[in-house]
Amino acid sequence: MAIDLKAHIRGIPDFPKPGILFYDISTLLRNGPAWQETVSRLADLVAPTAPTALAGIESRGFLLAAPVAAALGLGFIMIRKPRKLPGATVGLSYALEYGTDRIEMQADAVKPGDRVVLLDDLLATGGTMAAAIRLLREAGAEVPLSAALIELTFLQGRARLDAPFASLLAYD
Ligand code: 5GP
Repeated sequence: MAIDLKAHIRGIPDFPKPGILFYDISTLLRNGPAWQETVSRLADLVAPTAPTALAGIESRGFLLAAPVAAALGLGFIMIRKPRKLPGATVGLSYALEYGTDRIEMQADAVKPGDRVVLLDDLLATGGTMAAAIRLLREAGAEVPLSAALIELTFLQGRARLDAPFASLLAYD
């Protein structure tokens, strides 16, 4: 019997701001069998796209992308907040509802023709994922799939993405 992964994710009201219901994956991470099944189901989702590497978005995206990459015998690339990565980096600034944000990756992390699948914990408005897709493309990579454990479907974030998208769990 498959494990009900949603039963291991809790909604925390008013975090980080009043009016926001935050989906907390800490309880999923703390449960060995549920976490193992999460990684294995994501690996099954990603494998048919024949990636050459996986990329994760800081910080919860790392928790998902690194074990899925290892399960598939693939390398893992970090996409981070500004000024966190050593050496030469490439970056991209993107608009938020209020203000801007920026993500960076090491300049030698991908080469033209690489097939990089992006993983994050949750897709909300899609702004973060859309920026990461652009960053990888600008570096010459193909993005055969972007994926998240959780998709907040009512925000229609996937409509903003310029790459195929898949999620394991949808909330509306
Ligand atoms: P977006 O850019 O799609 O609006 O927001 C997605 C990003 O915000 C993801 O990197 C995700 O980690 C974070 N995020 C937004 N809301 C939640 C939430 O309810 N739970 C978790 N775990 N992450 C969230």
